Amino acid sequence: MRSERASPATAGLGRVVVVGGGLVGLATAWRLLQSRRCEEVTLLEKDAKVASQQSTHNSGVLHSGLYYKPGSEKAALSVRGLRQMVEFCREHGVRHEICGKIVVATDPAEVSRLDALWERGTHNGLVGLRRLDSPEAIREIEPHAAGIAAIQVPQEGIVDYRGVADALEREIGRLGGRVVVKARVTRIERIGGVWRLASSAGDVSADLVITSGGLHADRIVGLSGMKPAARIVPFRGEYVRLRPAAEHLVRHLIYPVPDPSFPFLGVHFTRMIDGGIEAGPNAVLAFAREGYSPLSINPRDLAESLTSPGLWRFVARHASMSAYELYRSLSRGEFCRSLQKLVPEVLPHDLAPGGAGVRAQAMWPDGRLVDDFHFVRGDGILHVVNAPSPAATASLAIGERIVAQIDGNAG
Ligand SMILES: Cc1cc2nc3c(=O)[nH]c(=O)nc-3n(C[C@H](O)[C@H](O)[C@H](O)COP(=O)(O)OP(=O)(O)OC[C@H]3O[C@@H](n4cnc5c(N)ncnc54)[C@H](O)[C@@H]3O)c2cc1C
Repeated sequence: MRSERASPATAGLGRVVVVGGGLVGLATAWRLLQSRRCEEVTLLEKDAKVASQQSTHNSGVLHSGLYYKPGSEKAALSVRGLRQMVEFCREHGVRHEICGKIVVATDPAEVSRLDALWERGTHNGLVGLRRLDSPEAIREIEPHAAGIAAIQVPQEGIVDYRGVADALEREIGRLGGRVVVKARVTRIERIGGVWRLASSAGDVSADLVITSGGLHADRIVGLSGMKPAARIVPFRGEYVRLRPAAEHLVRHLIYPVPDPSFPFLGVHFTRMIDGGIEAGPNAVLAFAREGYSPLSINPRDLAESLTSPGLWRFVARHASMSAYELYRSLSRGEFCRSLQKLVPEVLPHDLAPGGAGVRAQAMWPDGRLVDDFHFVRGDGILHVVNAPSPAATASLAIGERIVAQIDGNAG
């Protein structure tokens, strides 16, 4: 792989521009260069550094495909993407560790949901899943965790996603591609069969455009003259860190059984690749798409959210969950109570403020969340509209899938 160079003008896709330099955009640009079907590949990123949004404001976990509906893109691409990501990290010296995780049922009602997860995981081809059927069996893996049953998922782990993004950026350069930062795309027009993109770093032309704008994905669809059916709703996820004296309470990854009516995994404990233990994230509606603090308000983002019929339908359908998430965001005690279900010895004074991330979750106009990865295609253009978790894990496989989709159909 290291000896590959993009051969010039090898027919096919022509000049390609990728908009958005998160892990999905970077992986796509890399896969395009590997395909040797492009005359040139240029990636335009609005921030001063690639992967400064979701891709480095997350839990840093390598997900395995346990949770996702069999047959979905998420199931297929997380299983494939995890393998590819581990291989990429090994090859490029990116820190990672396959430490395994446990998903813990803490009451009898959760046990049947745990059984359903087992079915899904098995159906999705996960090998080596282990059922822990007693509190003692759970404590052998995580001595301070409490639960009545659990699944141990040996292939999951933790990774340095900043390291992955930086390695991808280097790889893109090595293969002859160009990454342009501080290049916010403001216009995407098709003139005479050629795409013209205006950005804060100048204009570029392209035969094929691929966009993966994360929190702004729907707006980028709009810039290209298409009407996005699904809109992005930002859900902030807030973390706390365990103070050093409490870090011994968690060895690896301890997750709850997720609520199937909600797309998020529930607050969990994660050992970080830089050391230390994080707990979270919750899921609160954010007043700004890049609103990493509860006080961040962006008038345009807020107005769009408040005038979105989908959001109101969502809130009506999930009223108690939405109110609870807000309450838990404001109450350290309640946050701690959620964590105590998994590790009872954690106390409020063990928790220090942590960081936050904002999930770009697409929502249909009827208020349903878009469950799977979602792509929208036009003539010579492909938009990644919904790439929430596990898209960091799956990014290399998503890039591969995009190249397969557009290959031979560059418009
Ligand atoms: C709290 C949280 C926890 C998560 N935990 C995990 C986890 O443990 N494991 C996992 O696999 N996934 C996790 N995820 C999901 C994962 O982080 C995302 O699915 C993934 O990073 C999406 O990558 P992306 O490239 O689509 O988006 P992003 O990383 O958001 O990148 C989009 C990029 O597009 C750029 N952009 C936007 N508009 C423009 C424009 N007009 N012009 C130019 N550039 C533009 C942005 O600046 C940004 O860099 C988590 C997410 C969150 C928020």
